[in-house]
Amino acid sequence: MKTDYKTGGKAMKAIIIAFTVLTLALCCLSITGCGYCAHELKVKDEKVASTCVEHGHSYTYECKKCKKLFAYTLDKGLYEVSEAEELPLSAEHTLPEVDEEHPENFPLGIRLKEGKTAAESVLDYEITTKCTLCQKEFAIEDKNLAAVVPLENKVSENTNTRRTYSGVRMQDEATGRWYTDIQFYKATRPTDVTELKPFAKITEGGDLGWVSSDGAYQRLPLYVPFNKNQTRHVVYIVHNSDAAATVNLEWSIDGKRYATVTVAPGEYKPLVVYGLKDWDCNVDSQFFRVSTAAGGATLGSNIKMEMTGFLYTSGTVDKLDIDSQPTKTEYKVGETFDSAGLRIYATYSDYCLGKTVNLAECKFSTDGRTLTENDDRVTISYGGKKVSVPITVVKEGA
Ligand SMILES: [Zn+2]
Ligand SMILES: [Zn+2]
Repeated sequence: MKTDYKTGGKAMKAIIIAFTVLTLALCCLSITGCGYCAHELKVKDEKVASTCVEHGHSYTYECKKCKKLFAYTLDKGLYEVSEAEELPLSAEHTLPEVDEEHPENFPLGIRLKEGKTAAESVLDYEITTKCTLCQKEFAIEDKNLAAVVPLENKVSENTNTRRTYSGVRMQDEATGRWYTDIQFYKATRPTDVTELKPFAKITEGGDLGWVSSDGAYQRLPLYVPFNKNQTRHVVYIVHNSDAAATVNLEWSIDGKRYATVTVAPGEYKPLVVYGLKDWDCNVDSQFFRVSTAAGGATLGSNIKMEMTGFLYTSGTVDKLDIDSQPTKTEYKVGETFDSAGLRIYATYSDYCLGKTVNLAECKFSTDGRTLTENDDRVTISYGGKKVSVPITVVKEGA
């Protein structure tokens, strides 16, 4: 039937090719046929991925001739099944979405990292949210977070004769994470609004300075960028390291909405702040007010606190760039890759959001294995993107 062949030609060809591939796969895997030369398979059930609450199932193939069902895995190859094979529940949870009408409902919190029974530092906590499917609390992945470290102070207009705040950026050696050592000064009044003005720190250069020219991107410490008309959430982890006073801290990332936390001496608490700007904003001031639970016209004595923060993003990583090549690029066969000196910068789909990636959160193509003569690069993956660094590997004595 010439006409039939012409009209259905393309689809037919595709099907024939698909069958051929499957038949070949079968032959290669030496599965016994059904009286013919081999089974002739077609997809019966498409794969359905599991979620954290519902089992999915794998692909199921049906033989056109004998009607038997088959499944396929890399490990086992093709094998006969009686029905679609159930897949285990997914360990991955589903991030909630921000309701722009009620951004205050977006669930964010903190909890001690696995293996910790008590905190020694704000860095012992991780940021959590609630799965939309199973309602369980789970740690937000690193790719959805960017560190915010409140640093420099500029005392607001009404307090320009008194200093209210100083922040010193600290780095934890073990993790490379940042936090701020804070001192609130004793003459600060409950009504004082202190403005943390990033532009005051514009002269800070080097690796950790941020780039303001053209508003292209930032380096750590990250100030809070906004996508126009999209609520931004930040979770600060606050530790009252002061001996005596219980502290009330009110914080704002947009100058309009304040979140409040009360922290007793020694306590660690989350401070969940959200804000909104009606313009794409790469960097802007943050604001706070501070007082003691005991009251009084001023703080009365200097108060010490520690803070670190994370900005939440539902945005995706757009690209990875190598900021700095690893120190060691020449290897002998049998050595393992050393990432020392390597610095990777991730640019996000959010306006002006980017960050230096923590290498501990990256996947390396060499993944701890020893190098061979065939290795001429190492590929690093983060947030669904990849980037490579060149290396050379030579035989010992070559
Ligand atoms: Zn068959
Ligand atoms: Zn879940």
